[in-house]
Amino acid sequence: MRLLLLAPPGAGKGTQGERLAARCGVRHIAAGDLLRAEARAGGRLGREIAAYQARGDLVPDQIVLEVLTPAVVEAAARGGYILDGFPRTVPQAIAAAELAARLGVTLDAVIYLYAPDTVLTRRLLDRASQGGRADDVADVIQHRLRVFAETTGPLVPYYTERGILVTVDADQPPESVTADIQAGLSGLSLPHSRGH
Ligand code: ADP
Repeated sequence: MRLLLLAPPGAGKGTQGERLAARCGVRHIAAGDLLRAEARAGGRLGREIAAYQARGDLVPDQIVLEVLTPAVVEAAARGGYILDGFPRTVPQAIAAAELAARLGVTLDAVIYLYAPDTVLTRRLLDRASQGGRADDVADVIQHRLRVFAETTGPLVPYYTERGILVTVDADQPPESVTADIQAGLSGLSLPHSRGH
């Protein structure tokens, strides 16, 4: 199973990614987590990544590909992955498709989780009040939502054209979102999604 979770900040792609990965028995590859780990490790690259993340700007495509490619290659060899937050720009999607073609694999489906900005903002501020991430502050949240709309939004038509987009309402309890994802995947009648 090879899936991509496409979702604005606060839509719950981390939660759903973990669930789907456990259910499908494949690795959950969370771009933000891998980039944060690289930032914590320090060095020139780490400091650069940390600065982009703190501002809520996207890390440049070239750095993202450098950090993410080894994880994708390894997981592809082990039966698949749930990609969470990568690809997140059209150039990243093109690079990821080229990589997948080289590895002889392609994405089975892209799950697009959507919710109104007011809901997303409230969730992120709630997370912040429970000791959340450094980028969960009001002005950075607004910026991340804008960046999503402008830079990641174009991936919705991109994957729709490829016939693999499943759209799911994320403004529901996590279990309902998971159920809708499962239903959407069986609607695509993927060979791997039966029996789950
Ligand atoms: P969220 O979706 O809530 O913003 P993530 O952990 O997915 O949380 O991403 C946090 C930050 O990590 C982003 O604001 C961005 O700086 C960086 N990031 C994550 N994925 C990517 C990506 N594919 N391309 C560029 N930057 C990314």
